[in-house]
Amino acid sequence: MRIVITGGSGFIGSHLCERFLDDGHEVVCVDNYLTGSPKNTDHLLDHPAFSRLECNVSDGLPVEGPVDRILHFASPASPIHYMRYAMETMRVGSDAVFHCAELARQHGARLLVASTSEIYGDPLEHPQRESYWGNVNPIGPRSVYDEAKRFMETITMAYRREHGLETRIVRIFNTYGPRMQLDDGRALPNFCAQAIRGEPITVYGDGSQTRSFCYVSDLVEGIVRLLESDFPEPVNLGNPDEITIRQMVDEVLELTGSNSPVVYRELPQDDPKLRCPDIRRAKEVLGWEPKVGRREGFQKTIDYFRSVIETS
Ligand code: UDP
Repeated sequence: MRIVITGGSGFIGSHLCERFLDDGHEVVCVDNYLTGSPKNTDHLLDHPAFSRLECNVSDGLPVEGPVDRILHFASPASPIHYMRYAMETMRVGSDAVFHCAELARQHGARLLVASTSEIYGDPLEHPQRESYWGNVNPIGPRSVYDEAKRFMETITMAYRREHGLETRIVRIFNTYGPRMQLDDGRALPNFCAQAIRGEPITVYGDGSQTRSFCYVSDLVEGIVRLLESDFPEPVNLGNPDEITIRQMVDEVLELTGSNSPVVYRELPQDDPKLRCPDIRRAKEVLGWEPKVGRREGFQKTIDYFRSVIETS
């Protein structure tokens, strides 16, 4: 198949490019490098089935030739990035989705869009099932991302209803692994960088908020299965092994052998207090569940961040 991946040079996008090439497909990686980096896919440039197109998918998706699958993964995704790039984030969750859907329609291709656990907001149901409609502040600082992703789901389902487009929606929970950016402000990169450098670890709030972390190879496997399934409703993909942020700090300190002190900072506005995916649907429909445990995944990611810090 010929597969177009927007945001293909981002963290998750680049792992998808690799996976589809390994599976024998042709990949067109589209990116404007706003928060992704060409470095993430430079190693694929020699692959005969790989090509890159530098463009802003919010302005259009000028891919030539046949298209069988479109995966829309372009978007700033960490809280500091989407707040810094508010306009770009809203457009890539709206204008860009129309461009992807139109290209898919022209080619009779299947469209898979990358949604997020953020559509559940600060959830009042726990763990979060796909049937939960969420608790999002529509005017808060996170809304540029949360509401754009919600609208992306709306556009996707409307194209399905109105044009019979083949669509898939994945709701991605916190994911980590190599090629995450060290300075994207997220908890794991921050804690790893701080621990490796012996700097204070910054916990926001009292650290009792929870998250659950999925290793990127598990996520990619789930996405591939969803893409080739016939299931059009949203599917949560994430690791249901939930921990508090304070617990996570202890694990990072232990695995890095660091004795960095812990300092407490103000909790950002609308920071979700609890987050954990209910993955029963993914298990039933896709036969999927995560395989990589947190210790193993954290260790691989720490090794990656260490190499980034040593070579910078
Ligand atoms: N967090 C923290 N210290 C940091 C960065 C993040 O305590 O240096 C907290 C943040 O407030 C949130 C959790 O860790 O409660 C996960 O944040 P992240 O930015 O990784 O992603 P989110 O799940 O909020 O999108």
